[in-house]
Amino acid sequence: MNFKDYIRVIPDFPQPGIRFKDITTLLKDGPAYRAAIDSLKEMVKEKEIDLIAGPEARGFVVGAPLAIALGVGFVPIRKSGKLPGNTVEAAYDLEYGKDRLAIHSDSIQPGQKILIADDLLATGGTIATSIDLITKLGGEIVGAAFLIELSYLSGRDKLSGLDVVSLVTY
Ligand code: IMP
Repeated sequence: MNFKDYIRVIPDFPQPGIRFKDITTLLKDGPAYRAAIDSLKEMVKEKEIDLIAGPEARGFVVGAPLAIALGVGFVPIRKSGKLPGNTVEAAYDLEYGKDRLAIHSDSIQPGQKILIADDLLATGGTIATSIDLITKLGGEIVGAAFLIELSYLSGRDKLSGLDVVSLVTY
């Protein structure tokens, strides 16, 4: 399946100059959504994985079904102020903005093997910050899985040494 056919590119969103890759057109197509998750599963299934962690919000729509497909649990990484329990937090830069991410302090036990999942790898800032949070809790990152990789933003370089898989590259 050519997943690019299901992804819509919207110019100048959320600000001029950004060509936003919109996955809602993929998500609303049942067979395409399932095929995308199945393909990611095939790419990571040889790994030993205890948990998948994904940043809100689109990391949930990739990470949660991938966790179910692999038979492992899912840990949400959220914007600051959204999680009800005790959290650890870190500031991060986006392709277009700044924010803080948080994870429940008791969501990962030291030594657990964590795969990170998100819809899209741009500059790598979100994933680098997610790695910081998981590492602070003692989790061991075994890789990162994305639907989309924007290779011209070189996010992969920021994640040097990490096993990164993606379905579609722009
Ligand atoms: P990074 O931190 O620069 O790698 O940006 C990745 C994060 O920004 C992901 O969580 C994406 O959901 C979001 N993002 C950045 N650009 C796009 C885009 O073109 N389409 C959808 N999400 C994007």
